[in-house]
Amino acid sequence: KIIELEDIPGVGPETARKLREAGYSTIEAVAVASPSELANVGGITEGNAVKIIQAARKLANIGGFESGDKVLERRRSVKKITTGSKDLDELLGGGVETQAITEFFGEFGSGKTQICHQLAVNVQLPEDEGGLEGSVIIIDTENTFRPERIIQMAEAKGLDGNEVLKNIYVAQAYNSNHQMLLVDNAKELAEKLKKEGRPVRLIIVDSLMSHFRAEYVGRGTLADRQQKLNRHLHDLMKFGELYNAAIVVTNQVMARPDVLFGDPTKPVGGHIVAHTATFRIYLKKGKDDLRIARLIDSPHLPEGEAIFRVTERGIED
Ligand code: ADP
Ligand code: MG
Repeated sequence: KIIELEDIPGVGPETARKLREAGYSTIEAVAVASPSELANVGGITEGNAVKIIQAARKLANIGGFESGDKVLERRRSVKKITTGSKDLDELLGGGVETQAITEFFGEFGSGKTQICHQLAVNVQLPEDEGGLEGSVIIIDTENTFRPERIIQMAEAKGLDGNEVLKNIYVAQAYNSNHQMLLVDNAKELAEKLKKEGRPVRLIIVDSLMSHFRAEYVGRGTLADRQQKLNRHLHDLMKFGELYNAAIVVTNQVMARPDVLFGDPTKPVGGHIVAHTATFRIYLKKGKDDLRIARLIDSPHLPEGEAIFRVTERGIED
């Protein structure tokens, strides 16, 4: 049974309605809210907000400790999705992992969106071909999702392009608030698909920072932005753990004026993104269709590089 907002002690139908209207559509969303945020929702006092959040945390089982053997059990259920390139898979330790955030960052045209499209196809493959027989949710912030490209990549693998498209659920995010809300909505969709035997095994945000960057300009707004970004990334992580899904985000780069030697670019988003992303892969354009991927941060993999190609067929060695 899905736990509804009304199941939170102290939340009646009227409060539940107001919460939903304000964008808190699941108990997880309430559980990770701050009391002052929740107190902004009509009629809820700050004292009440604290109680509601605590109750929601209990129901959502958020913030509790887990014994090491439980963590190991969860780690054992981690699965991998092939990128289409053996070299890139190897760099990632076998492919893109479930229950982890993998961030692809790089300049315009470096292949971030192409990788997203390819993963949306590959996740649908059987396990012995590098997939998870899963569905995909894509949060598209730059309006770069192209069904035609999916069909092209699917057919290159001998799949029926239209059938593949049926398992890809895309939403355009109009601003950063909408982008965050879509993760909540993704949970509802994932519950529905789970019941239909079409589990979501991949959620993509392409691109993570474009709205946040455009909306929060100037120093004074940075703290506010980082707080929201933190919540967004934790919502995504929670989704990945809940559904054993891979989380893939793309990110832009900005020039680093202080760097005299080496690469003068770095991903945007600051420490929050740096610390929350489990794998960070820097993509660079090479000659013709060649792309270079460099693993920047990983808890258990050595840094290294891979070379792959973006062709009409998709991502290849
Ligand atoms: P970004 O990192 O900005 O998201 P993209 O993933 O959109 O970049 O990569 C765009 C590049 O991918 C193009 O410049 C082109 O090299 C390649 N590409 C896109 N579509 C195709 C295609 N159908 N056939 C071959 N290459 C393609
Ligand atoms: Mg792109």
